[in-house]
Order: sequence, then C-alpha cells, then structure tokens
Amino acid sequence: MLLTEAARMAGVGRAAVVNWRRRHDDFPAPAAVTDVHPRFDRSAVVSWLLAHDKIAVPAGVSSATLVLWSGQAAERRFRLDDPVLELADDADGEDRLSGWTTDTDADADALATLTATDTGASLRRLTAPATPPLAVPAGVRVIDRYRAGSGGLRVTLAWPAGLRGTADRRPRGGTVDHAVPYATPGAQCVCVRQACGGLIPVPYCPEHGRTAEPAMEWHPAGGIRCTHLTRPAPAEQPA
Ligand SMILES: [Zn+2]
Ligand SMILES: [Zn+2]
Repeated sequence: MLLTEAARMAGVGRAAVVNWRRRHDDFPAPAAVTDVHPRFDRSAVVSWLLAHDKIAVPAGVSSATLVLWSGQAAERRFRLDDPVLELADDADGEDRLSGWTTDTDADADALATLTATDTGASLRRLTAPATPPLAVPAGVRVIDRYRAGSGGLRVTLAWPAGLRGTADRRPRGGTVDHAVPYATPGAQCVCVRQACGGLIPVPYCPEHGRTAEPAMEWHPAGGIRCTHLTRPAPAEQPA
C-alpha cells in the first residue's frame, strides 16, 4: 500500500503519515522501493496503525431487529441501526427505542400502519445489543419520526414499561406470561418456576393445569414486576 492509502485509512493527510514514519523507527520498512513512492506491506502498516491508536478496529454498526404484529397487518420484521433503548425503572413508565430505519418510506409506512391501532402493535421479539430478547404484548406505537438531510429516517417507538417481558425462546417470540400462585406450589407441581416466584403453568400439572386457575397476578416474565418481586426485601432497621 501507498502512504496515501494509509493516510486515508487513518483519516489524516499524507504529510501526517510521512511524519509518523520519520518519528517512529518501528514504522514498517517499505516492501518495495522501485516506484517513486515507496510501497508498504498492507498488514504491517495496518498493525502499526492499530498499535499506535491511529485507527480502531471497526465495531460495526450495531442494530436492533424487531418483529411487530397487529391485527391490521401481517407480522413484519424491521431493522433499526444505531439503536438507543431506554428501559424505564418503573412499571408506570415508558420504554423507548429509537434508531435509523434501514431504508425507506416503505418501512416507515409499514411501521406507522402496524402501530396505528387503538391498542398499539405487539412486539413479538426485540433483539438489541446488551439486552435479552424482549417482547411486549401490546401498546407499541411510533411517537416520533425524524428525517435527516441525508435521507435517513430515525424513528422512536414507545410502549408501557409494565407490559415488557422477556421474549419466548420459540423463534416467533411473544411474551412469556406467568402467574404468581396463591399458595406455594406443592410437590406435584411440574410448572416452570421463575425467579420472582411466578410460574408458567403447563397443562398437565396436577396443581396448575388447565382446570386450575393459579393466578394471583399474571405478568410478563422478566419484566419490571419480576424485577420488583425478586429484589431482596430491605433489611430491618435495628430499633
Ligand atoms: Zn404447577
Ligand atoms: Zn415474574
């Protein structure tokens, strides 16, 4: 590679690279000097640039994928680049997700159509960096659309935080609903237990099967309600 290329890679002028080469004796030696301009081994230069913090390993554009559904239209998958996900701490709060739509008005219009129902859309599965797959059974809507000069479209979605839960493991997703039973489950219980004390009733459980109604309270698994229930009780203050 030529020094010009190294300069472009590091986002500086050629003169800066010439300077680095002059000042640092560990700068790679030219691989060929037949030309007027010296040529360098590409991987040697790239390693040097990395080692001296002149360039960074590209992290890649992070993105979120979401599968939305409403009665109005078929299920649809969207991708949001450079996503920002703000999860509320309180069940009365609102979660927000914003990001750039990959394309076009078609995506934005589909989003608008899907979420423009009285109850809002259902988020079958949201996969985003640094969070387990989430799902929201209803109430998802678009609260903001912003078109940048470059043609990109940034959208913000919001939903009631209390409805958020961990997405089901099945590929289609959806929230894992579970219930906190009235009484401590007995030895017969074969339901899936949750950390919050809730359980996901299975139809063949003798205690909580289809015939029994165990629920004291249904809530989305892994959501805020779970978090509150699993939080250790505050220690008693000495009198
Ligand atoms: Zn059970
Ligand atoms: Zn729970």
